[in-house]
Amino acid sequence: MVERTLAIIKPDAVSRNLTGEIIKRYEQQGFAIRAMKKVRLTKSQAEGFYDVHRARPFFGRLTDFMAGGPMVVLVLEGEDAVKRHRDLMGATHPKEAAPGTIRREFGTDIEHNVVHGSDSRESAQFEIGYFFSTLELQF
Ligand code: UDP
Ligand code: MG
Repeated sequence: MVERTLAIIKPDAVSRNLTGEIIKRYEQQGFAIRAMKKVRLTKSQAEGFYDVHRARPFFGRLTDFMAGGPMVVLVLEGEDAVKRHRDLMGATHPKEAAPGTIRREFGTDIEHNVVHGSDSRESAQFEIGYFFSTLELQF
């Protein structure tokens, strides 16, 4: 079924000039880019985005990192997009990610793992709405 997912090229990847390389992979895998922009979150906006992780020990560091520089956010659309995008990203820890995945190739460590992807249809809906308005999603 055709669905949408939210992708983030995280601040570590943007600062390392990996934006184009990562977008190229999304396109090569056949995803349609329905929306895309560069943003920098405040600390409280990063906390709101990662609200499900509020109680986790890494929450403070994660939200400092995500608010620490600009990121590129995209809405990807395609068949089975949530899972296919997660497969393309690889496991959370770059060392455990499969060869050829974005995190395996470019990730530094579990905190600096270059990309985010929604993990379900429900979280995709919340995450897309967090960044994009209806008007920004018309293409
Ligand atoms: N994270 C971290 N330490 C951990 C687990 C996660 O810093 O022990 C960070 C990491 O950047 C990860 C994000 O928190 O991408 C969200 O964690 P989640 O378990 O949702 O992983 P993901 O869905 O990004 O693979
Ligand atoms: Mg997650």
